[in-house]
Amino acid sequence: MTLMPARLLSIALFLFALIPARAQQNVPFPGTIGIEQSLDRLNELGTVLMIAAHPDDENTAVLAYFARGRHMRTAYLSLTRGEGGQNLIGPEQGPQMGIIRTQELLTARKIDGAEQFFTRAIDFGFSKTASETMEKWGHDRILSDIVWVIRRYRPDVMVLVFSGTPADGHGQHQVSAILGKEAFGAAADPHQFPEQLKYVEPWRARRLVRASFLMGPGRGGPTGAPGTTPPANGGTPAASAYASASTPPAGRGGPQLPQFPPLPNAGEADTGGFNPILGYSYLELANMSRSMHHSQGTGAMRQVNPGVTSFGLVEGEPSSKDIFDGIDTTWNRLPGGAAVGPILEAAIRDFEPAHPEKSIAALVKARPLIAAIADPLAKIKLAELDETIALCAGLFMEAQAQAAQVTPGGQLSVTTMVLNRSTAEVTLDGGSVEGLWNDALEIKPVKLDHDQSARVQFDRTVPPGQAYSQPYWLVKPPAGDVYQVDDQRLVGLADTPPVLQVRLRLTVDGAAIEVARAVKYRYAERSEGERVRPLVVVPAVAVNLPDAAEVFPANAARRVQVALLANGANEAGELRLDLPPGWKAEPRLQAFKVAAAGEVEEVTFEVTPPAGETTATMKAVARVNGRDIASGMQVILYPHIPPQTLFPPSDVKLVRANIEVKVHKVGYIMGAGDEMPDALRQLGLEVTLLGPSDLEQGDLGRFDAIVAGVRAYNVRGDLKANQARLLNYVKDGGTYVVQYQTGDASLNLGPYPFTVPGGTRWRVTVEEAPVTFPHPDSPLLQYPNHISQKDFEGWVQERGLYFATQWDKQYQTVLSSHDPDEEGMEGGELWTRYGKGVYIFTSYAWFRQLPAGVPGAFRLFANLLSAK
Ligand SMILES: [Zn+2]
Repeated sequence: MTLMPARLLSIALFLFALIPARAQQNVPFPGTIGIEQSLDRLNELGTVLMIAAHPDDENTAVLAYFARGRHMRTAYLSLTRGEGGQNLIGPEQGPQMGIIRTQELLTARKIDGAEQFFTRAIDFGFSKTASETMEKWGHDRILSDIVWVIRRYRPDVMVLVFSGTPADGHGQHQVSAILGKEAFGAAADPHQFPEQLKYVEPWRARRLVRASFLMGPGRGGPTGAPGTTPPANGGTPAASAYASASTPPAGRGGPQLPQFPPLPNAGEADTGGFNPILGYSYLELANMSRSMHHSQGTGAMRQVNPGVTSFGLVEGEPSSKDIFDGIDTTWNRLPGGAAVGPILEAAIRDFEPAHPEKSIAALVKARPLIAAIADPLAKIKLAELDETIALCAGLFMEAQAQAAQVTPGGQLSVTTMVLNRSTAEVTLDGGSVEGLWNDALEIKPVKLDHDQSARVQFDRTVPPGQAYSQPYWLVKPPAGDVYQVDDQRLVGLADTPPVLQVRLRLTVDGAAIEVARAVKYRYAERSEGERVRPLVVVPAVAVNLPDAAEVFPANAARRVQVALLANGANEAGELRLDLPPGWKAEPRLQAFKVAAAGEVEEVTFEVTPPAGETTATMKAVARVNGRDIASGMQVILYPHIPPQTLFPPSDVKLVRANIEVKVHKVGYIMGAGDEMPDALRQLGLEVTLLGPSDLEQGDLGRFDAIVAGVRAYNVRGDLKANQARLLNYVKDGGTYVVQYQTGDASLNLGPYPFTVPGGTRWRVTVEEAPVTFPHPDSPLLQYPNHISQKDFEGWVQERGLYFATQWDKQYQTVLSSHDPDEEGMEGGELWTRYGKGVYIFTSYAWFRQLPAGVPGAFRLFANLLSAK
């Protein structure tokens, strides 16, 4: 073996360690198409990196074209995981939604064939300016992450989606282009972020381009000057990146954006082109891929129209026809690579769909040549080559855990299986594990004839001090709007590396290869078929607190419940509440025992607040087998993504605030999902969720107040259908509170007309924005709680969204607010008497403030419910 310099070796090892999961992920078609795509990829050495701000900003047709059509390494770097937007499929917000959107992107990438990266930036909600975004994220931190991804992925061409000007709309969009441009130069400069050079080398991409969103009616059709039109409303779904994670797509006819600045032409890509091997055009693949963003509602119809995407040159070497003009993407670009290309070309030419094993000989010939090349790209290709050999040999390989989860100190049993489904000569030579343990597996070499399999089983004890499988970016609490990740090598990764993976050494037709498989749990869900879960390490007992905040509306003790979920049988211990000074819990400590895994035991404490108004943090801690457990556990389950497990800290915010409310029975019409009902129950209210039959024929008169949840009118036909019944309820003396709905001209939200235009303009995104009272005597500001400026302190994320812009004179306004340098807007809260009751429209972000335990927001909302 030739000796490598220490630094090169560490780079090689590091890159190598990252490859297997990705190589597997790119084969959604395991048959002929998959093998052909793999063979083509082996002989193509071009690399493209696209940069934008959110899940769904990416130009998916461009990704599909380069990954599936040109067989290049193609990746999308999204600065954020889309934590700040609205969730269309459930109640998750913030980090939980970031997890969902991460998995939606990874699912989309399986279709378009690209890879996925993120920076540590958090989507903190809609931002109107680049400067606000830059201030919250910190210029250097995010630049450093983009530079890191460039140095590690080593793209030839970088593609921006946005322009870095106000034409991009969202401030986070602008920043993705501003920092993308800076990173293009900074990644090549060894004086920038030198601490990264321990792992990677400086890298200069050849050119930086911006993709336009012009889709011509036909090839060579009138597509206009490249890059002059912003990706605004009404663009083709595949190309319309304007709708950000934080900005649900606005209807056509929203506010017109300024034009993107023009750029010199850098070439075109046939993104509407049909690929007969795949059976789809890239635009069709893009529509399928984008439709994976369920939580954002970007589901799109297939588009079969031809068309091209044009590119404008931002920086680097000019190009005219193609963004790879003048870039050698063959094996000739690597020293010692010249002999590889012809061998792979022959393998592609001679490929027989019914006999893929015949291609192995050529791959075996290419292997030592590739293995001898020191360049990191060759190391990646070597791993892809080994996967391709395994694919040609019809090898089935998996590492199956006997359960989806394991506790520290618990027993883990894993069965690894290798099955030879071809006539290739295969031996299993050995293997090792990586992750929980890093050592060799005891495997006796075994020859596998056609249809023969080998099983390797091992049982081990998980180290008692093993950390839980928290997503890596959530292990430490975020610092403001940026995740804290201590290990540089994790930065940029889309997902947490597997808890454990098995690496197998095999000989196939004379070539020694290595493949790795993450340990997973595969099982059948009767109604859905097979599901696969990643193996996770979980606490023996998860300490779950039902709410993020506990509100004490008066100076009296309240019961606080803690739910203990056992992850093993007969888990026993003691539970205590760690309280700040002035607060008391009774009893101080409680013993518990949970008989079976999966069972939950509720433990109740009586918590007494201090006399004055205050907020504090309480921690619930279970002590089990000498170890303190201060983590809850949440499993996010949706059919379109793999199940995700996370471990929120078992903290709860305690809020002691004087809040009066004059109603008791509240009906709640849940919309797209929010956590308002539980928050309202904290005031001692009896909250009933209203289903379709309640709205159609239930006795609405039994409720003191009825509340429509966020976007209820957007997602519930039964609500629209029963609007007359709700207005009659008001006429008869009820109070009806309607929270924000996204703009839609067909919605008739109130007894008198008002307009909610949608789009990003009519909102107040700065959560500290000043709020004034146009009618200070309004009962909504006086009864039963007297509202003052203090009630607008401590708000989170934003003031409000989707304000009304015009309203009938029957309505009175209550609050006025605006973002910096804008005019005051009064359309965030309208109210009117109607018959004997009161109707209120309010698009302030109650659904964020109340679950977060903002005392002033509770007082304001209590006034809405109590209005008469
Ligand atoms: Zn966006």
